[in-house]
Amino acid sequence: MRLEKDIEKILIDQEALQKRTRELAEQITKDYEGKPLTVVATLKGAVLFFSDLVRWIDLPLQLDFMRVSSYGSGTRSSGAVQIIKDLDADVTGRHILIVEDIVDTGNTLAYLYDYLINRGAVSVRICTLLEKTARRERKVNVDYTGFFVPDEFVVGYGLDYAEDYRNLPFVGVLKRSVYEK
Ligand code: 5GP
Repeated sequence: MRLEKDIEKILIDQEALQKRTRELAEQITKDYEGKPLTVVATLKGAVLFFSDLVRWIDLPLQLDFMRVSSYGSGTRSSGAVQIIKDLDADVTGRHILIVEDIVDTGNTLAYLYDYLINRGAVSVRICTLLEKTARRERKVNVDYTGFFVPDEFVVGYGLDYAEDYRNLPFVGVLKRSVYEK
């Protein structure tokens, strides 16, 4: 309740998040049968989605984490991507599934995709909880999308504004008054 007062509207509730996450996990299970799979979460935004997703993927797999900078504490992407935390394990010969919170301009994922292919992965695919298409600058092939959302600044279920709101159990639009004051 304390956090919810800053939310303009709820876009995707907890039930819809769970249902869609299970559907994606079932599809991923079919697609990666028999392949050595590493699921890579991008910190920190994808962590809630990632932890729900992987528990429904019925395959042997490994988990890894990367952290790349994108927005800082504002609401607009800078375009310049920087790796802050790299993978822990060697991914040569493995299939990588990147789990991302949201694809907006596409700059982050276009960069990550090229980077991971160059690290020797057999394949790199992308699973994102959310996609905004209005401000796309780079072409990225997103293989699994949870939901398409309008061009509004969303928070919750891992997504933050200045590091807050990640623990909301739903995805909602932040009131403009919060970031325009
Ligand atoms: P892109 O590089 O595709 O522009 O942006 C990807 C990153 O920007 C995401 O991983 C996320 O951290 C951030 N981002 C883009 N749109 C939103 C949004 O509406 N809300 C939040 N909280 N982060 C966003």
